[in-house]
Amino acid sequence: MKSFLLASGNAHKAEEFKELFLDAIKISAALKSIEIDESGETFTENSLLKAKAYFNTYKVPSMADDSGLVIEALPSILGVQSARFSPDLTEYSQKCTKLIEMLDSSNSKERKAYFVCVLCFYLSPEEIYFFEGRVHGTIGTTLKGNQGFGYDPIFIPDRKENDGKSLAELPEWKNMFSHRAKAVQSALEFFKSSKKA
Ligand code: IMP
Repeated sequence: MKSFLLASGNAHKAEEFKELFLDAIKISAALKSIEIDESGETFTENSLLKAKAYFNTYKVPSMADDSGLVIEALPSILGVQSARFSPDLTEYSQKCTKLIEMLDSSNSKERKAYFVCVLCFYLSPEEIYFFEGRVHGTIGTTLKGNQGFGYDPIFIPDRKENDGKSLAELPEWKNMFSHRAKAVQSALEFFKSSKKA
């Protein structure tokens, strides 16, 4: 089984990825996290910056993810900056409320949004693979649910049976169909068929 070092200091992420990859690919947390300036303009660039930094430090195959929320009517915020939106607000519930207010006061009636996750597998400088997953939906008018994290309470996935539920109310569905789960599924299919892992 191929083994990758997770290019993140976030223990919660390591656990989540271990579960998603199950026994197919081994993901381990680094002993010490590395400070990385996520200065890329795309999710792909940022995932590469992180995976490469861990590869260069630990000299083992590394995997990084970069993710975020894109709100179509607010193109100049969030995206690759999702984790750094409104740093004055300490709680994600406050950030979610602010986003709803910004959308309500914008001239646009458009509430379409999507989550993106890009995974970068850095096996060596000559062998680097990227996988992307997306989940489409709309931004709700209030915060709903208390599962998940980040912007989940305001994100209503496009799904016939969802009854207008937010991602924070759909933990099981999220585990199977989130942007992260989809990117992981693509990676698993690739590594299984190419026998690289
Ligand atoms: P990253 O850890 O640098 O990739 O930052 C991703 C940021 O995007 C997080 O801090 C969250 O704000 C947001 N985000 C990414 N995935 C999710 C999700 O599944 N639910 C809610 N927010 C998310």
